[in-house]
Amino acid sequence: MNSTTNGGKDAAKSVAKDAAPIPLIRKPAAGTSAGPPGSASKTACIRTFGCQMNVHDSDRMRRMIRDAGYAEVQSYEEADLVILNTCYVRENAVDRVRGHLGELNRLKREGRVKKIALTGCIGAASEAQQLEKQYGIDLVLGTHNTYELAEFVGLPGMEETYTPELPGTEGEHSAFVTIMTGCNYKCSYCVVPSVRGRMVCRPTENVVEEVRRLVGSGTRYVTLLGQTVDAWRAPDGSGKRFCDLLERVADEAPRVWFTTSHPSNMEDRTLRLIGEKDTIVGRLHLPVQSGSDRMLKVMHRGYKSERYRRKIEVFRESVPDGTLSTDIIVGHPGETERDHEETLRLVEDCSFDSAYVFKFSPRRGTEAAALSAEPEGAVPEDVAQRRFVEVLRAVEQNAFRRNRRKIGLVEEIYVRHGRSGGPNEESLGKAVGETWSGHAVHVRTGAGAGRYVTAKIEEAGPHVLYAGETLGPPS
Ligand code: SF4
Repeated sequence: MNSTTNGGKDAAKSVAKDAAPIPLIRKPAAGTSAGPPGSASKTACIRTFGCQMNVHDSDRMRRMIRDAGYAEVQSYEEADLVILNTCYVRENAVDRVRGHLGELNRLKREGRVKKIALTGCIGAASEAQQLEKQYGIDLVLGTHNTYELAEFVGLPGMEETYTPELPGTEGEHSAFVTIMTGCNYKCSYCVVPSVRGRMVCRPTENVVEEVRRLVGSGTRYVTLLGQTVDAWRAPDGSGKRFCDLLERVADEAPRVWFTTSHPSNMEDRTLRLIGEKDTIVGRLHLPVQSGSDRMLKVMHRGYKSERYRRKIEVFRESVPDGTLSTDIIVGHPGETERDHEETLRLVEDCSFDSAYVFKFSPRRGTEAAALSAEPEGAVPEDVAQRRFVEVLRAVEQNAFRRNRRKIGLVEEIYVRHGRSGGPNEESLGKAVGETWSGHAVHVRTGAGAGRYVTAKIEEAGPHVLYAGETLGPPS
């Protein structure tokens, strides 16, 4: 079981090597031109708001900007490019981001900041267009097309994918290991199968070798990646499935997670393994997309909501203190009010700890794009917006209720991002970490990324927990 009180999963403590810090460099003087990609004379600052999924997205963007030759800096004044990766769920979320955008607009007019990018949930919301004009934003991306940042920063355009195939980087405290590419599904709204082709799985030993190498060079957190990661099958015909590979990796690495899973492939034994293995984070991301069986059929998801609910029951039973997140699309062509109500009911039943809620936007060449072009096909924008907010609020209420149960518990926290903060950063001097149950925690510590600290949870919001002073030195 994933014990989250007092000590957590001790296996993690066996690797004591510090992670290499992100290089910080000074911004060149005003007027100095930025060098070519790879010259590290360009600087970028990423500010993350909201839930742990946003933290994960920021990690993806962090890798893109590094590949493009940017060094990461911690304050707006030092940055050529500022990325605000935003959250929409809180009542005053947009107002809060406006404060940051106002300051960035001023810095841009003074020639100190060159480019501003707005990403995440607010980037996908209806307010984004108005913000873009008002504050001179150079790039607006939603959570579904974060990959477009690659082209913006000068990398070859990445094809659309929900989980970019970014290789793990040796020597870093956390690394992504791609175990499969492509996808054998044909979801109505998704271009992955047409651009990535059918599923191709990496051999077991190949994956395990990479994990060993990463761990040997200091990596303490390995995330297994794939479009449908739980569909992985050993290509050697041995009949080994994802659960077998996960178990092997969990024996090698001190901390393991995986994403993204598909409900049709998720096996009960995988869900049980999460609870049994001390090195697997108790967090499950299982996209449901809709609570309506009718819409699931239109989307070609290949399961009914009942199957999804059963999987969640097994997960909650196996990992009672674990966290559950999902993806939900609202406003898919043909979605009725009744379909929407069924989604709200499923959100209530599953008590998600967080969710990526997408307002449908047509991707060229997909079946759903053709459907939305038909008369009566598209859900009107104002209706989709209302449903979007209703689903977000329902998720937030559930998450807030569940998070409050953590108050008073002493948790072992893995520091994902060390001390950060700019002039307007509320969390100045705090690190962002993750419990073994997969909760995001703000904790006051000077410990760097990749270290463990222990602290008592003192407050809870809908998306993050807030810990007090750390107890004892970091490990
Ligand atoms: S499972 Fe569906 S949404 Fe996921 S990558 Fe495959 S086609 Fe796209």
